[in-house]
Amino acid sequence: MDLLEKKRQVSQLYEEYERLVQPYKTLAVCEKGCASCCIDVGSVGATTLEGLIILEYIQGWDRQTIKEINRNLRENRNDKLNQVLARCAFLDQEQNCRIYAVRPFSCRRLYSVRKCDGQGAVVHRQAVMVGQKIEKELQKLDADGCSGHLSFILHLLEKNGFRQDYLWGNWSTENFKDIIERYELVVHRRTSREKRER
Ligand code: SF4
Repeated sequence: MDLLEKKRQVSQLYEEYERLVQPYKTLAVCEKGCASCCIDVGSVGATTLEGLIILEYIQGWDRQTIKEINRNLRENRNDKLNQVLARCAFLDQEQNCRIYAVRPFSCRRLYSVRKCDGQGAVVHRQAVMVGQKIEKELQKLDADGCSGHLSFILHLLEKNGFRQDYLWGNWSTENFKDIIERYELVVHRRTSREKRER
């Protein structure tokens, strides 16, 4: 399956999730300006495919904004590694998501039927189950990639040699062992090259 088709299927899975949880989500009390999920949860998961979509989305942004985001991502990675609650690197000063149109699934599945007030979101059990199913589908779709915290995934995608090999489906986990272990990334499956070598 080519990359374009995979990206199309990512969007389809997002839409399917919204359709399936619509009866529950209508009860959400979330409103613009509340960014509790982006500040207090401290864990934004993404697959490499979702990371790629985000990197392509921000590609043409002005240098100053990119510089700011890169600084935020660096801080976010350090905070996360030091187990400090990390504000999302894409949240702007007005508490708006800068990548809302392409935010990863872990953000899309979060809503709350009660004001979070720093206590965490209250989500319907049925919606959590639908979310787990969609998450698995997203990982299956990105079979040659991996998943983990967003700022770690973006770092991996920026690593020399990773992105091109990933796009060809032949990157070696051995070459990126350090980063995979340090960031506790989940490798979706062994790549075809590794399978051939076994
Ligand atoms: S990507 Fe956007 S919605 Fe998701 S945590 Fe970051 S700012 Fe919030």
